[in-house]
Amino acid sequence: MKKPASELPLAWLLGRESYQRVCVRFWLMTSGVYAVMLVVMGYAQTQGFISVVHSEIFRWVSLSGLAFFYLCLRSGWSKRFVDRAMTAQQMMYAIVMLAGAYVAAPALRSAMLITVPLVLTFGGFTLPPRRCRQMGIFAVAVQAIAIVMSLASGGQGQGGALEIMVFIACAVVFTMSADMAGRLSAIREQLRVQKRELRTAMERNDQLARHDELTQLPNRRHALEMMEYEGKRAQRDKVPPCICMMDIDHFKHINDTHGHAAGDEVLRLLAHHAVPALRAPDILARWGGEEFILIMPETPLEIAVLVVDRLRSALANAHIWKDRPELQVTFSAGIASMQPSETIQDTVARADAALYRAKEAGRNRTEQA
Ligand code: GH3
Ligand code: MG
Ligand code: MG
Repeated sequence: MKKPASELPLAWLLGRESYQRVCVRFWLMTSGVYAVMLVVMGYAQTQGFISVVHSEIFRWVSLSGLAFFYLCLRSGWSKRFVDRAMTAQQMMYAIVMLAGAYVAAPALRSAMLITVPLVLTFGGFTLPPRRCRQMGIFAVAVQAIAIVMSLASGGQGQGGALEIMVFIACAVVFTMSADMAGRLSAIREQLRVQKRELRTAMERNDQLARHDELTQLPNRRHALEMMEYEGKRAQRDKVPPCICMMDIDHFKHINDTHGHAAGDEVLRLLAHHAVPALRAPDILARWGGEEFILIMPETPLEIAVLVVDRLRSALANAHIWKDRPELQVTFSAGIASMQPSETIQDTVARADAALYRAKEAGRNRTEQA
């Protein structure tokens, strides 16, 4: 589908790949913070609180940094890193910039200091917890250097003791902010793991709901769904599907003579060796007890008979029963081709009637409806 024209510039700006779009969106938020800082700094410069040189340096270094990170993200170059969003690099860059402004513009210190915890918060969205906390230590270290530099330049009139108090406050707040970001990151990771586990559980549930536990074949409910689908498809296709009902001969005798577990083993072996003997589109399902249903999409009746004959020879193979020759079994089958005038349930009923005739006729044979 063609995208509306209004979406095109946005797609161009953010990129088309979903994670890249997330990264660039984060970058846009960061740019918003830089923009506010640049406005504040511009105003401070007009008021004489910061020199033109410092203000220009801040402006160009900010814009170059933003452009650099945008190009890294948008070009896909950042994909080579584990942290594709380059969050750590962007955070370190911002922390150093804010510290630089702290030294150069004493009047704007409060604005610079309140921004550092915000920068540290960003880590919680992409960095692992440990890395978030390392960012906190980095911010404290950079702030220490900034305070030493501002004390050394002696340009702002507040005493060393006050600077030390400010530093202690910064150290506590930055470390706590980084720790919060780390906790956020841990919760995010936990949610991701839970989501993965939930998906696996749902897939397992789905598998259990649609498959028979003993033979691992599709169960009756799943077979009905697939038959409904084939029935609908038959209205469009030239060749209708064939349905084959199969029933193991004298299965009760196996159970009575060798026990129920041996009966189960027969069902398992039969299912296990039947599937490889079928064509790829054919679906074998457990209909119930020792009855199976074979759905053969787009198959003429004469081919379906051949398929079932081949299955019969494959299951007569001594290799299958070599460990339990006493369990060797045969099956009777009834095949019906879906007629244009009938529903798939009618076809199943006719295949069932043909199976009954196969039993009557002496078992171990196939009857056509
Ligand atoms: P026929 O040739 O006429 O089909 O004879 P049969 O003995 O196979 O027929 P019948 O339907 O009388 O017996 C089927 C038996 O299959 C009865 C039931 O106890 C057994 N059965 C059904 N489900 C299972 C199962 O999951 N495991 C085992 N071991 N036996 C089962
Ligand atoms: Mg039966
Ligand atoms: Mg039977």
